[in-house]
Amino acid sequence: MKALVIEDTLTSATLVCHQLEKMGLEPLHARDGEAGIEAFKNHKPDLVLLDIIMPGIDGFEVCRRIRQMERNGEWTPIIFLTARTGDTDLEKGIEVGGDDYLVKPVSEVVLAAKVRAMQRIAQMRYSLVVLTRKLDEANQELKRLSSVDGLTGIANRRRCDDLLAKEWRRAARTGEPISMLLIDVDFFKPFNDNYGHQVGDECLRAVARTLDAGIQRPGDLVARFGGEEFAVLLPQTDLAGAGQVGESLRAAVEALGITHRHSEAARVVTISVGAASARPTRDSAGPDGLVEAADKALYSAKHGGRNRVAASKAPD
Ligand code: GH3
Ligand code: MG
Ligand code: MG
Ligand code: MG
Repeated sequence: MKALVIEDTLTSATLVCHQLEKMGLEPLHARDGEAGIEAFKNHKPDLVLLDIIMPGIDGFEVCRRIRQMERNGEWTPIIFLTARTGDTDLEKGIEVGGDDYLVKPVSEVVLAAKVRAMQRIAQMRYSLVVLTRKLDEANQELKRLSSVDGLTGIANRRRCDDLLAKEWRRAARTGEPISMLLIDVDFFKPFNDNYGHQVGDECLRAVARTLDAGIQRPGDLVARFGGEEFAVLLPQTDLAGAGQVGESLRAAVEALGITHRHSEAARVVTISVGAASARPTRDSAGPDGLVEAADKALYSAKHGGRNRVAASKAPD
């Protein structure tokens, strides 16, 4: 542990340094304020013992500058050393960022006690900084997890709902259209029943990857909506555009070529897609109508024979 002694009176500095050494600390001596600030920068001491009256800048100013140099969360204990004993010196010392005050000539016992107290506080403070950092990291991870689907790694329902609400308000402001696709895997129950749940899960991951890779614009979002259903949000996109995206995603999933001998729609895994679009205004209700319209379109796609895209216009 390094202790920086900033003190112009050599006899006093020598005495304090000697006492610190006896306590097992490594003392560094600076003979004036400027040299002290340099030494603080270069050596990053764990403790500063600081005289008040010195040639050049005084101890109060040195203390102020040290506090300015410390970055977020950093703190080095500063104990003022002075011959003065007035209350105003004490008050000013604390005011500029000092932590304690020692009267010269320094008593070895008092110095040792104060150094120990400062070490204890520094240790607790350090633990707190480490803990806060860990907490920040955990919170970030939690935030990430709360918006990601565990099975497929794409966005989850919650993220989808949040983004839809936000994009809906934006569309209402800008007057642009907003579209949504609801996607459901065809005959997925017989797929699971015949190939097993694990193969089913692997299939959902492959479909999710394909959908995610199949969207083009940075503002678009593919999410797992639940079970074997997916949703795609397409801001600034009209119904014709949504139909095109839906068709390209449908074709991409079919092209994966995952064998499905128990589908009545094809020999491979396919999806049905419901597309809906709206042009909300400031007076519009929320986006529920858009989701309902996409769901209705999906129902049409299923009843129209599956492995296809159906579209419907939502109420604005
Ligand atoms: P349709 O063409 O009408 O959509 O027929 P379907 O069999 O796909 O329809 P249904 O909604 O009845 O079946 C959905 C099935 O999806 C139920 C379940 O077996 C399967 N499923 C839902 N979630 C998961 C999952 O997380 N993992 C796996 N492996 N299967 C799932
Ligand atoms: Mg002095
Ligand atoms: Mg379903
Ligand atoms: Mg299905």
